[in-house]
Amino acid sequence: MRIGFIGLGNMGAPMAANLAGAGHDVAGFDTAAPVPAGIHAAGSASEAARDADVVITMLPNGAILKTVAQQVIPAMKRGAVFCDCSTVDVDSARVVASQARAAGLGSLDAPVSGGIGGAQNGTLTFMVGGSGAAFATVQPLFEIMGQKAVHCGEAGAGQAAKICNNMILGATMIVTCEAFALADKLGLDRQKMFDVVSTSSGYSWSMNAYCPAPGIGPQSPADNDYRPGFAAELMLKDLNLAQAAAQSVGAQTPIGALAQQLYEQFVEQEDGRGRDFSAMLPRFVKMNG
Ligand code: NAD
Repeated sequence: MRIGFIGLGNMGAPMAANLAGAGHDVAGFDTAAPVPAGIHAAGSASEAARDADVVITMLPNGAILKTVAQQVIPAMKRGAVFCDCSTVDVDSARVVASQARAAGLGSLDAPVSGGIGGAQNGTLTFMVGGSGAAFATVQPLFEIMGQKAVHCGEAGAGQAAKICNNMILGATMIVTCEAFALADKLGLDRQKMFDVVSTSSGYSWSMNAYCPAPGIGPQSPADNDYRPGFAAELMLKDLNLAQAAAQSVGAQTPIGALAQQLYEQFVEQEDGRGRDFSAMLPRFVKMNG
């Protein structure tokens, strides 16, 4: 396939490189980042999109996505698919989908889980909104860039799934961290706490796969001085998106709202910026004195 890839940052560059490595003809464009080896450098986003069967975008936010979509959609050939893999708000995903539809294009919102390691190793999970036909066109590419793609429903459903997943993740990470800090105060050994909770009803991905306590459980950013991993400010971005989505449909998300407030405080007023989102544990320990 001919692929246009726009946004070659931490995630986009390895994803595009994996597509080129699998034999696809990839033209890439980024306003700042270098174009990886094996990818033709296009002079603009619209040049990368011209003649492409699929255009993939991996951009910072919904405002930038909408700007890029306005440049790219008119340059694409009819019947091609516009596939956005960024994490953005549901409304932006739906606006771009309707613009693509009006131009005779397929479109997908296909945000990812799995982080930079998943992008490099081709083990991302894609959660996808859009038509079945567009999903079928892009599925072979999802199989190269990832290990799993779930077709979640119509336009916006992929972003909805991503936002709900990460709201659960933010909340479970906070409660896992506050529980470790409580255990410290109660004189409970952290390893014993892990041994019990990881095999009891309090278990979660935050505890079992990404334990926020250094030296306990599998290797995680806690074992690397809380270098990200998944940065606290990216978690804050996703919790902000969850709150915006909840407000737009009138849904009650009290724990999600509290998680958003705590990460905002951690990033904006404390020392959370640039640290992994699991650094909530040393934060609680410090606050507990
Ligand atoms: P990044 O900042 O490293 O990459 C974004 C790239 O977009 C940058 O290279 C930037 O120069 C480029 N860009 C900005 N405006 C542009 C424009 N108008 N035209 C072309 N290129 C433009 O970010 P990232 O870590 O690669 O994340 C990308 C997306 O993936 C975000 O939406 C993020 O929330 C999501 N995501 C990131 C992770 C992660 O662990 N990093 C995990 C899951 C999802």
